[in-house]
Amino acid sequence: MIQLCNNDTCTGCSACYNKCPRHAISMTENTEGFLNPIIDYNLCVNCNLCTSVCPQLNSVNLSYPQKTFIGWINDGNIRRDSASGGAFSVLALYVLRKGGIVFGAKMDDDLVVRHCFIDNESYLYTLRDSKYVQSNMSDVLRTAKRFLEEGREVLFTGTSCQIGGLVKYLGKDYDNLITVDLLCHGVPSPKVFKDYIRWLEEYKGFSKITRIKFRDKAISNESPNCLIEGMGHKGEKITIIESRIYNKWIQAFLGNNIIRPACYNCKYVSPNRVSDYTIADWFGWDSRKYWEGREAQKGVSAIFCNTAKACSIIPSLNMVLHEVRVEHGIKNKNEFFHKCLRPTSREQFWTDYSSLSFNEVVVKYFQTSRLPLYIIYNSIHKHSIYTKLIVLFLRYLHKVKLKLKNR
Ligand SMILES: Cc1cc2nc3c(=O)[nH]c(=O)nc-3n(C[C@H](O)[C@H](O)[C@H](O)COP(=O)(O)OP(=O)(O)OC[C@H]3O[C@@H](n4cnc5c(N)ncnc54)[C@H](O)[C@@H]3O)c2cc1C
Ligand code: SF4
Ligand code: SF4
Ligand code: SF4
Repeated sequence: MIQLCNNDTCTGCSACYNKCPRHAISMTENTEGFLNPIIDYNLCVNCNLCTSVCPQLNSVNLSYPQKTFIGWINDGNIRRDSASGGAFSVLALYVLRKGGIVFGAKMDDDLVVRHCFIDNESYLYTLRDSKYVQSNMSDVLRTAKRFLEEGREVLFTGTSCQIGGLVKYLGKDYDNLITVDLLCHGVPSPKVFKDYIRWLEEYKGFSKITRIKFRDKAISNESPNCLIEGMGHKGEKITIIESRIYNKWIQAFLGNNIIRPACYNCKYVSPNRVSDYTIADWFGWDSRKYWEGREAQKGVSAIFCNTAKACSIIPSLNMVLHEVRVEHGIKNKNEFFHKCLRPTSREQFWTDYSSLSFNEVVVKYFQTSRLPLYIIYNSIHKHSIYTKLIVLFLRYLHKVKLKLKNR
């Protein structure tokens, strides 16, 4: 009998689901709310196509960055609307203006994050900004292949495992395809996010939440806030802007209990990359070396060009760019080397999740924030020996605290 990945190893990339010629695979929500493939053995004809495209069961070609840049989009409004310097929008505009198609993650009106495509600049805003929830890939790989076969230029963006799924599913190179992966901490459970929205509505007086933006720069460019918008019970508009330090979702995300299990053992945590481009945040100190004053604080992207195709497009991009040494860029990003930690509290968390109310879960697990540590670590000089010692000490304290809590 055909066996795909289990709950611990599947990334939910949906390559198997998109590939199956018999439609024998359905992507089904598991108890933690992540989508996993389930095979209907009555329909399956044992052709092995699904296992042959699974990036977790097979090797994936990776390339070491050839060039690294830091910079931002020239349009100030788009830069403000983007998680970091708007590198994604620059690449998307480059493709859209040539009549191409852009794939990425959008938060729909029902606040579910789904992968989709756009072919028009006026919808680009829907793909902008980081959504800290795993996106549902549904049949986008099949759709991307159709556009590629028609000869349309395609920009496909997503987490590294989603790009891994795309390249294995396609099975060959396309000149008209550009892939972009985000440097990725891990993805949280869509089910917990749905429960979080219901909890927010109950505790913050909303009748319905209509929009959440995780990195809103309206008040502060340097440390973006979470923006929550919706309607009150009398039909009034409610807007809440919460510091990321106090926002329960960000605390849950960085606490790692609600992260997809495959992320703790992510095979893409490496300077060798699966995409043409890898884009990431570039915080604080280092960019101030290159740009004066507040300019460097409005959001700076790091762009790793991993293929010759990626390097060749760079001169055509409409953005401020500064080239840095590849090794310097890589050294600056912890995420190339460190997988997100599986918390010792994870099993207890999920046991509690099924028996406690969501508010009790919030009180028990979404309080102790590692965010101040994360922000400090990202905004000061990471390579100073003192910083490293402080970070190691705080990590040790955090582990002791978790152990004491779990006793
Ligand atoms: C879950 C998650 C974790 C991340 N972790 C890190 C990290 O640890 N370190 C780091 O340097 N950068 C991380 N990033 C990337 C970073 O925050 C920015 O997304 C990236 O720098 C691009 O920013 P931008 O300004 O170019 O464009 P933006 O407009 O802000 O980026 C939008 C892009 O992000 C994609 N996207 C948004 N949400 C998702 C999602 N849920 N799944 C797949 N794709 C999505 C969109 O499709 C689009 O391609 C993470 C992003 C996400 C979504
Ligand atoms: S073996 Fe073939 S038919 Fe069976 S689930 Fe996989 S792809 Fe579908
Ligand atoms: S192809 Fe993707 S979704 Fe399917 S089993 Fe492998 S990792 Fe999971
Ligand atoms: S950490 Fe790895 S497995 Fe998890 S979403 Fe990111 S790229 Fe995928």
